[in-house]
Amino acid sequence: MSLTGHCLCGKVSYELTGNLIATAVCHCQHCQRQSGGAFSVNLVAHESQLHVSGELSTFEDRGEHGDAVYVLRRFCGSCGSPIVSVLTGTDGVIAVKAGTLDDTSAVAPNVQVWCSHRQPWVDLPGMAVSLDRE
Ligand SMILES: [Zn+2]
Ligand SMILES: [Zn+2]
Repeated sequence: MSLTGHCLCGKVSYELTGNLIATAVCHCQHCQRQSGGAFSVNLVAHESQLHVSGELSTFEDRGEHGDAVYVLRRFCGSCGSPIVSVLTGTDGVIAVKAGTLDDTSAVAPNVQVWCSHRQPWVDLPGMAVSLDRE
């Protein structure tokens, strides 16, 4: 499988190849704030599967608790589109932001996380699997 995407201004584009680990909706407050939406949709894969063209800026997200860097949130420094989060403390697991795909209909989420922060009006049908990291 090969998925392609790009940021809003077009300076950053990417290709994601191989099988996804999951496609996950994340309801955490940091994803809400970064995206400006109710949740993020993430293509979970290994960093070796992602090939980025263009320059990414990085925000070191220290998470909801604790002070260790939890996620490296990488985005286009020109238009601000979030492109990928790198989960520190894993073996290179990344979460590519599915809203930046060229064809957003190519994938559908199959898991949701941080449900304790789900906005009360959000009700996603067919999401049987639910994980919470808290
Ligand atoms: Zn951009
Ligand atoms: Zn999140």
